[in-house]
Amino acid sequence: MSNLPQIKVFNTATKKLENFETVLPGIVRMYVCGPTVYDRSHLGHARTYIAFDAVKKYLILRGYDVVHVQNITDIDDKIIKRAQETGISWSEVAEKNIKSYLDVLKKLGVQPTVSPRVTYHVGEIIEAIEKLIEKGYAYESNGSVYFDVSKYEHYGELSGRRSIESWRQEEDVLKEKRNPFDFALWKKMKEGEPHWSSPWGEGRPGWHIECSVMSSRYLGIPIDIHAGGGDLIFPHHENEKAQSEALFGVRPWVKYWMHTGMLTIKGEKMSKSLGNMVYIDEVLDRWSPEVIRTWVLSSHYRSQLEFNEDALQQYEANQQRISTAYRELKNLIKEAQQDFRLEDKDIATMREIEKLHNDFHEAMSEDFNTPLAFRSVMKATDIFYSKVKEGKSFAIAIQLWMFLNEANYVFGFVLQEEPSSRDDERFRQLIELLIAVRKNLREKGIYDLADGIRRSLAQLGIELQDSGLETKYIVRK
Ligand code: AMP
Ligand code: ZN
Repeated sequence: MSNLPQIKVFNTATKKLENFETVLPGIVRMYVCGPTVYDRSHLGHARTYIAFDAVKKYLILRGYDVVHVQNITDIDDKIIKRAQETGISWSEVAEKNIKSYLDVLKKLGVQPTVSPRVTYHVGEIIEAIEKLIEKGYAYESNGSVYFDVSKYEHYGELSGRRSIESWRQEEDVLKEKRNPFDFALWKKMKEGEPHWSSPWGEGRPGWHIECSVMSSRYLGIPIDIHAGGGDLIFPHHENEKAQSEALFGVRPWVKYWMHTGMLTIKGEKMSKSLGNMVYIDEVLDRWSPEVIRTWVLSSHYRSQLEFNEDALQQYEANQQRISTAYRELKNLIKEAQQDFRLEDKDIATMREIEKLHNDFHEAMSEDFNTPLAFRSVMKATDIFYSKVKEGKSFAIAIQLWMFLNEANYVFGFVLQEEPSSRDDERFRQLIELLIAVRKNLREKGIYDLADGIRRSLAQLGIELQDSGLETKYIVRK
């Protein structure tokens, strides 16, 4: 395709659509706020992660290299509380939920370049806080450290919030602060809580500072995209912005702030605090990751998205129609005659496909309008069934393929099979297991069964080679 449209992004900071231009040519540095791992991930999380994965994939499609950092908050009040409630250690709570988060993320086809954890960066966080104190933006109070918002003149710029109405805080914390808006960079240790040594005594990092430290660690300064759910604009992103611009002396620290609309259930935000969660792993038992992606991306990332099983059912039908066309098209290309003599009606079909392909890029370039882009994909799929499937024209098939393949990369109607590394690993483990069983049989003098294993493996092309106490294997092609 030629003359692709300029990409435009809605920037929360300016509330405007802006032309997308990266700080460094050709490279997008993108940071997405990831989960606090006190529980398994729910569909609200999936909404945000899939939305920004599609943004990332579209940017890659447009030729950018994208470095995508998505952090894991593995120490926090909620994790400590969950550990106290369940009687297991805070690190076990975090570990278990990190495993499940990474597992569902991979299944959904979302793979950040780096998934840094807070507890691996405490030293750097302490250094950043020390610098903020040195620069006069932060102060120590009773073993905790707070960011002094009165010292940062642009506080409130991102969220438009400065009022403290309905913002409840604990009395003893309020007493330590100069201003109720000041936020904790370092929290003094409470009895029985995990803690690290610092110049201010034992304690742990506050929530916001981690994202400034880890984003600059992996992406440098400034960054192109900072993303997360809309629920994070205040206070999290407002605080991140204030402390980062104060710490790094760079303004703006983030070129484009991007936020998703909330995933709701019965009109209410899906959240752990409301207890209305539908966990991703449970939804994955009922629906394929491809259906979940198709459904999530059927709405614009900035819109609210209501969860119900009927919608998933509808998108399952759509996803299957597209994925079947995609697979059949692949086969058709293999089988079709490479005949380039085209009739007029073929040329008209090719024009139609080209128009839809253009529409797809127009939609994606206009603030990643996936629902509109999706309509072009559906129309192209209709063309497959009505005109391409029977016609078996190589030229048309290949043109449609170029479109659907790009759309698939962004949407994930058919998620690419994992490279066989995981299967290779399973295969290796299985052979090692059989070698161990054979060794055991030989030690017990049961040579006929041991030799039976060797023979069966040989029939499958796997040759065992004994040398001393060790047995190796060779796979014959
Ligand atoms: P949390 O673990 O709550 O800090 O959330 C991790 C990420 O998921 C953040 O970017 C949140 O903004 C996002 N998120 C949490 N709940 C929802 C929801 N109901 N809808 C959309 N995004 C959400
Ligand atoms: Zn964050």
